Amino acid sequence: MKKKILIIGLDGGSWKLYDELIKDGYMPFLASLRESGASGNLISTIPPQTPVAWGAFQTGMKPGDLGYVDFVTLDLENNKLGIVNGKNLPKTIWEYFSEQGKKVVSLNVPMTFPPRKVNGVIISGMLTPGIDSNFIYPRNFKTEFLNNNPSYHIFQLSRIKKDFSYKEIDRYLLELRKIIDTRKDAALYLFDKEDPDLMMVHFQVTDILQHPYWKKLDKNHKDYSSEAYNNIGNNFYKFLDNRLQSMVNQIKSTHEDLLVTIISDHGFQPHDKRINLGDFLSTKNYCIRNLNSSNSFKSLTIRALRKFDLLGILKKVFKDKWLNAVEKATQPILWSKSKVIAIGRSSYGFIYINEKLVKDKNSFRKELIMNLEELNQLGTRKVINTIFTKEELYKGSRFDSLPDLIIVPEPGITFSGSFSDQGKGDLLVEGLEDFHQGIHHLKGIYIFAGDGINKNFKSDISIIDVFPTLSMLAGLPTPETDGKRCKELVNEG
Ligand SMILES: [Zn+2]
Repeated sequence: MKKKILIIGLDGGSWKLYDELIKDGYMPFLASLRESGASGNLISTIPPQTPVAWGAFQTGMKPGDLGYVDFVTLDLENNKLGIVNGKNLPKTIWEYFSEQGKKVVSLNVPMTFPPRKVNGVIISGMLTPGIDSNFIYPRNFKTEFLNNNPSYHIFQLSRIKKDFSYKEIDRYLLELRKIIDTRKDAALYLFDKEDPDLMMVHFQVTDILQHPYWKKLDKNHKDYSSEAYNNIGNNFYKFLDNRLQSMVNQIKSTHEDLLVTIISDHGFQPHDKRINLGDFLSTKNYCIRNLNSSNSFKSLTIRALRKFDLLGILKKVFKDKWLNAVEKATQPILWSKSKVIAIGRSSYGFIYINEKLVKDKNSFRKELIMNLEELNQLGTRKVINTIFTKEELYKGSRFDSLPDLIIVPEPGITFSGSFSDQGKGDLLVEGLEDFHQGIHHLKGIYIFAGDGINKNFKSDISIIDVFPTLSMLAGLPTPETDGKRCKELVNEG
């Protein structure tokens, strides 16, 4: 098989929701595509976080070979906090296909900034600093691209609350529809211009819609609203489905044998409660707050991300010293006196042990696990499913960068490295802010549809299997990844 491949990324896509939308007639194109191809759950990474999962898709590698589990990385050796980006990734699918002589286009995929050199075009997605940055490879294509796509939208995580009216549903849906259209137009423009063998267009809007509205969309949740569900079904998913159909049909009008792949990085579930690990660890004196810091005690992650726009500019000025700039901007704790530091927000719990202060790491870790288990007794329900040591979950070339303990939460629960404001010590955050009503789930989605695809194949596959499987479908040798080629996806003979 040596046909063209189109990958469509739907961030946070979940069969739990799409099955309902299909049943209610809001996604007829997705339904027909699934009918005509192989499909199932795409199992995400542990944890099912956007930058980890899209990093795993692009490289076929697990977190042990990626070296990060969150938006933020921690380097305790040098007391440095950093934000992940495309630089953290080993060889990507775009580079591999390029090396094999294929032309590639990657549009708006998270973790592609700074864009790497490829045979084709990369326009980076989530974690791109902004329109002024070099977010397009090749660099000299930027002006031409923006001239042809004047309303092109760069998704900036730190600007969600500034750029979107997510509390006013009808305005929000309008804003998101506009982005769907500009993304689709940019995809068709690039396909036409580049004639790529492998092209991906990624839609972030699905995730940022589902975060604030998941409970209203979830028919099993007590906050489900048929009015909101039908409004969003009509004015978002039906629109998205229609635009995907017109995009695919337009490409198919000249490339009838197009292979269409749809993937998501994780599914969704209702979010009930967030646990501030920072508070817990500081009441136990494991983590010492910097009371002289001018910062209020917000999460390390949020602080770092909020500074990110600014840091894009700082980075230019300070070049390789930019991590130090991040560190200075985010100092709510005394690194030199803290035995542990927790990172992350609305995800699994991640705890690093400061080996400069802890002599016997193994016995300290046992003590820490015992103490953490107290969290299950504090509220009305169990919050921790399992606490893993990093050896239990991960292995790989970048194992050393990973946190020492990983707390897997019960459904509906998340952890963060945060401290509550002014040190009141609220260990359990009861009222979640509006945006995080939904949270990620391990089960994402996939569809492979096209000639030669076995439409009876309906098993779950892993997100790290997509890269080697697409290489197989493109007739390329097997790349070196942690994933496997799903041969059952192809019809025999
Ligand atoms: Zn995501």
